[in-house]
Amino acid sequence: MGFFDSLKNFKNQIDHIESSVYSGKQSLLELYERNARLEAEIALRTKELDTANRQMLTLQHIWDMMNSSKPLSSVLNATVRSLQGELGYLHSCIAKRLVDSEGDYLQVVACSGELFKGKMLNFFSCEPSDLRLKFPNIEDLPGAIDGNKIYQSKEISNLIKSVLPNVSNEIADAVATETKAKSFILIPLSYKNSHFGSLVVFSTRESATENELNFLALFAKQIELAITIADLFQAVKEQAITDGMTGLYNRRYFEEYIKKEAVRAGRQNQKFTVIGIDLDHLKKINDLYGHNYGDIAIKAIAEVLKSNGRSIDVAARMGGEEFNVILPGVDSSGGLVVAERIRKSIESVTLERIGKITASLGVATYMEHSEDIDELLELVDHAMYESKRNGRNRVTLAKPVSETSWQEVAIDTFVDILSKHRIPLDVKTSKYLTKKLQEMNINNEMLYQVSDELIKTYNPDHSSGGTKQKVQLASLLAKRFDLPKESIDKLKIAVLLYDIGNTMVPKEILEKKEPLTDEDRKSIKQHPLIAAREILEPISTIVDVIPIIEKHHENWNGTGYPNNLSGDSIPIESQIILIVDSYCALLENRPYRPAVSKEEALNTIMDDVNNKWSDKLANEFVSIVQNEFD
Ligand code: GH3
Ligand code: MG
Repeated sequence: MGFFDSLKNFKNQIDHIESSVYSGKQSLLELYERNARLEAEIALRTKELDTANRQMLTLQHIWDMMNSSKPLSSVLNATVRSLQGELGYLHSCIAKRLVDSEGDYLQVVACSGELFKGKMLNFFSCEPSDLRLKFPNIEDLPGAIDGNKIYQSKEISNLIKSVLPNVSNEIADAVATETKAKSFILIPLSYKNSHFGSLVVFSTRESATENELNFLALFAKQIELAITIADLFQAVKEQAITDGMTGLYNRRYFEEYIKKEAVRAGRQNQKFTVIGIDLDHLKKINDLYGHNYGDIAIKAIAEVLKSNGRSIDVAARMGGEEFNVILPGVDSSGGLVVAERIRKSIESVTLERIGKITASLGVATYMEHSEDIDELLELVDHAMYESKRNGRNRVTLAKPVSETSWQEVAIDTFVDILSKHRIPLDVKTSKYLTKKLQEMNINNEMLYQVSDELIKTYNPDHSSGGTKQKVQLASLLAKRFDLPKESIDKLKIAVLLYDIGNTMVPKEILEKKEPLTDEDRKSIKQHPLIAAREILEPISTIVDVIPIIEKHHENWNGTGYPNNLSGDSIPIESQIILIVDSYCALLENRPYRPAVSKEEALNTIMDDVNNKWSDKLANEFVSIVQNEFD
């Protein structure tokens, strides 16, 4: 091989090497580029995975909450909160469709961001949940995406105007600015194709990615599920007839059942007995050992009722620690035997930590004590309270209405008024007075004290309630008119209650801005009488007392109110209350005049003979004050 050949050969080799080095370099470059691409891809995928993971966790969180026993409102609030922080939304809220007499509207049921809520409060002077929102007119909202299911738009003030049409453009714009968002996304919530609300999120970004929208759609599905399940649960609960905690029947079932039982009893002329059972000192058990142990004590009573079930048709938990039992075909003597057996069984239970428990029972029989279900149940209640008052852990048979002492009726009436919040009294005072009433012995002076304390809450400028003196004066006067005992008893109760309507401030006074007309004054004057009827009417044991109270502002000469009755058409009990009340008032200071002496007061009474009261009534009254009363 010549030199040139060798050179050529060498060059070829170099070329070859060069080309393979080049191709190696090429592939290295490619490799490098591919790697870089892959890395970017991995970074993107990791980010996506990370977001997906967060979304999964959020959904998981909602799902966990839905499975917990938390109320729907806290589930929804936690849901909107989870959207807010983690996923970069500024605010979000859920609105639900509600219907009332004025039609349907949207109400915010959950809203994230305390700061945002605070700002809304400034704009609208109310919580977001108090706003009555119109269904947004979807066509007005530009940017429908995803088969008209999700709406995205930058026009936040349009959204506000569309749900609150009465809000001015300026306010809508200001609220929109306040959201500090660049866009909102609205996802309708629906169940079985009916649109029942919306999820709205306010985003810092001008537009959402497809992934984000998919996620929000999924998220909305979870909310739909939560609301639908809660609604179904509520519907099922409303249809339920058993009490979840004890497995006994619930109040709803009991009330239905007793109505049917009364019809059956009437048809077959067969009595039935109701036993009321109230666990003693549950509050102490709760305080000492905790609510769970209180529940254990309640369940223990339920177990006793179930095991005594042979003659018991229906045992129901009426609420809290209160149970009722119906014994069909059983009269009061049989009822007492069963009640005593229940009492003993409860007494013989020993519970872990708590030890012994007891209960107080009341018994009343249909067609023996009453033929009115409400009255019968009230009598059971009265009897049960008498068991409490007499030391608990005992059975008391109801007295027929006519034999119940007026003090018992009065105590039970006060307890009813206070515990059922028939008057607007602060909770602390009403609890304190109720406790006092439930603890007191019948015929106790404490009844007057409680009545005085109650009167002072609504007539604060009266120096004393003076109930005791009024009751004594009224009954002495009633005896001068030979009233039978039942009428005197009713009168005494009326004396305790005649001003109860003063607890309700007339709406007219509160609402009226211009000076009052005579007509206004008249209606304000009459308001307490109307209020008294409203307060007392639901208490069936005192229905007879209401007419006495309603007429205690009528004057003998027909100048009183509300009906300008005159002379003997005014019940004597009402006439007695008028004179007693007027006299006692004169002896007390009033903001507009000082107290007067006994003599002056009696002179004033005599001055009004034939105007406010009859000659006979005034003379009897004066003679009582001078001779029998000190
Ligand atoms: P009394 O002997 O006069 O009946 O006293 P008491 O403490 O049992 O009755 P009171 O009416 O003063 O208080 C009842 C308490 O029972 C108040 C309430 O918090 C509690 N309570 C009501 N329902 C439940 C319940 O379902 N579970 C528990 N643990 N406590 C309840
Ligand atoms: Mg109790």
